[in-house]
Amino acid sequence: MQTIEARVIDVHRGRYDVETPSGTVACRLRGRLTRTKSGVRTMVVVGDRVIVTTGEDGNGVIHEVLPRRTTVSRRAPGTIPLEHVLAANIDMAAAVVSLLEPRFKPGTVSQFLAGARSGGAAPMIILNKVDLGDRSQAVAALEPYRQAGVPYVLTSAVTGEGVSELAALLEGRWTLFYGQSGVGKSSLLNALCPDAAARTSAISSATHWGRHTTTGSRLYRLPLLGGGYVVDTPGVRAFAFWQSPDHEDVDELFPEIAGLAAGCKFADCTHTHEPGCAVKAALDAGEIDRARYKHYVRLSRSGGRGARR
Ligand code: GDP
Ligand code: ZN
Repeated sequence: MQTIEARVIDVHRGRYDVETPSGTVACRLRGRLTRTKSGVRTMVVVGDRVIVTTGEDGNGVIHEVLPRRTTVSRRAPGTIPLEHVLAANIDMAAAVVSLLEPRFKPGTVSQFLAGARSGGAAPMIILNKVDLGDRSQAVAALEPYRQAGVPYVLTSAVTGEGVSELAALLEGRWTLFYGQSGVGKSSLLNALCPDAAARTSAISSATHWGRHTTTGSRLYRLPLLGGGYVVDTPGVRAFAFWQSPDHEDVDELFPEIAGLAAGCKFADCTHTHEPGCAVKAALDAGEIDRARYKHYVRLSRSGGRGARR
């Protein structure tokens, strides 16, 4: 018997694989942790730090889940509000988009990035399939994010462009990949981990919810000198907030709009109908992107009313 701290690297019904200094150990949860709290199972997710006791048979028992440094959560699909924690203790949350097929829409990543930031993870953007066409428009669309301190990297899983730059950003960190199907996440992960056997786990981990919502997440161990992990979320199609972003987070993600708000006549301007609104004026003058404006207004409105607060 040995009691150690370990990190959860795979979750499938009732079984939790954890990484210890001496290798991967299959664990079950101690009874107390499986009891339901307000109808929702206490979740142990990929990335959790846990206290494990290993036995003679080589298996282990998880006794305790240590406090999470960060979480990336969404609202589980369905009418009842349930938090779906995609992963814990994630350093970075990457929105993976593509230049074409499907075409990147500037507004679509804002929601995910603001949500990631409110959970404590640093946001970033991966623009894939840059071999497919003229990237200048997409780069212009990404400029506000860059100004907001959100790094982005242009990649092509086909030509290999940007893959080593991406690897450098991922090295030594835990990063969650989120993106709609078809953007090339699998292809990028193959480019990052050419040796499929090097992956920690290619098994879809079923995170089971009381109401039959099953979503897989997969962990990839990157073959980099400084280590690094990517949590892929292939089953996740829609991202809706669990925690609403803080106003500051929204403002940081939309600097070109938030910067204008100081010029509005009313301090509590919602930038929708008020007279003397500097944001609306810029919108009408075509100085800011309409889709981003709409997102900004929506996110600003939801700010500060997080389900957890
Ligand atoms: P996923 O659903 O996000 O995992 O996407 P896949 O990795 O399965 O890729 C979807 C399609 O896009 C496949 O046909 C890939 O070959 C193609 N694809 C992926 N990355 C690139 C890229 O960088 N450039 C081009 N031209 N095609 C790509
Ligand atoms: Zn205004």
